[in-house]
Amino acid sequence: MSIFLNPPIEAMTAYTPGEQPRDKAYIKLNTNENPYPPAPSVIAAMNAAEIEDLRLYSDPTAKVLKEKLAALYGLKPENIYVGNGSDEVLYFLFLAYGQRGAAFPDISYGFYSVFADFCGIEATVIPLESDFTIDSQKYHGLNRFIVIANPNAPTGLSISLGDIEGILRTNPDAVVAIDEAYVDFGGESAYPLMAKYENLIVVRTFSKSRSMAGARLGYALGPAALIADLEKIKYATNPYNVNRLTMRLGEATVDAEPYYQAKCAAIIRTREETAKALKALGFEVLPSRTNFLFAKSDKIGGGELYRKLKDRGILVRHFSNPRICDYVRITVGTDEQMAACLDAIRAILEESL
Ligand code: PMP
Repeated sequence: MSIFLNPPIEAMTAYTPGEQPRDKAYIKLNTNENPYPPAPSVIAAMNAAEIEDLRLYSDPTAKVLKEKLAALYGLKPENIYVGNGSDEVLYFLFLAYGQRGAAFPDISYGFYSVFADFCGIEATVIPLESDFTIDSQKYHGLNRFIVIANPNAPTGLSISLGDIEGILRTNPDAVVAIDEAYVDFGGESAYPLMAKYENLIVVRTFSKSRSMAGARLGYALGPAALIADLEKIKYATNPYNVNRLTMRLGEATVDAEPYYQAKCAAIIRTREETAKALKALGFEVLPSRTNFLFAKSDKIGGGELYRKLKDRGILVRHFSNPRICDYVRITVGTDEQMAACLDAIRAILEESL
């Protein structure tokens, strides 16, 4: 770092993304990407003419994409904000609403504490219960910005809409963001609660269930007033935050809803079969509503399993946080990828006997 960097930025610890290695071809089960390609109609939406049009700026109002998303959810375009990945949406939410502090679980998406730090926001970090569930009562009446991933990561566990409603009801003067990055893999979306609560914002992404992690497209569903706040921040920082190609691909993706629903169903099937196989190998596996499994074995530590799998060309995610360092998080890939992963785990367990 240079001597010129602003001291608060110098002092903070930034986010460490999962590995995106280029050294060899791994079976990549470490950053919860979708193993299936975008729908054929989405691939067909990209062509030379679209690329030629890159000389033009993208539509800062994202009119067509917002209209399509609005139709999908039975909302109005003014209830939708689109951003450069949901990371950007979440960052803007911390900027917009964090003045009185921000509350989130100790074990959750690692970016929340980074955003709090970066924005100079006091973080109220609420420990998960010993079984990694969220006790929603602990979020009642906090009177500050709250963000909860539902389902949570890296645990894969979800909380009920009743619990979320309790948090919304008891924090009428604070914004509650529900980060639904993984909701399409068996969770229940909170967006219908928008009809009752003015303080709910739901954050979603095309990265996981829509096979578009590399295109960077996320969005928020919320009351028009909250969406206008996010738009203001966008127009104060980067009005063309979603590039033309991504915008076009996003539109085609919304039109291909049945394709993605079928792929999510396939991932859920593979997840359940993989969980069963891991349990048969003696793993403890948390019940996942996501496209990943969080598992530990008393025969091998999380860090060792991660390293040995990597040696065999399989990447999973390991977190050094002491509460979860015994676990690995394994993204659900195709049946073939999971069979290879399970074979490798079997071999590693045998060799360490
Ligand atoms: N929320 C959660 C819970 C996540 O795991 C991720 C993915 N790392 C994101 C948000 C951000 O996803 P993206 O920026 O790709 O939309």
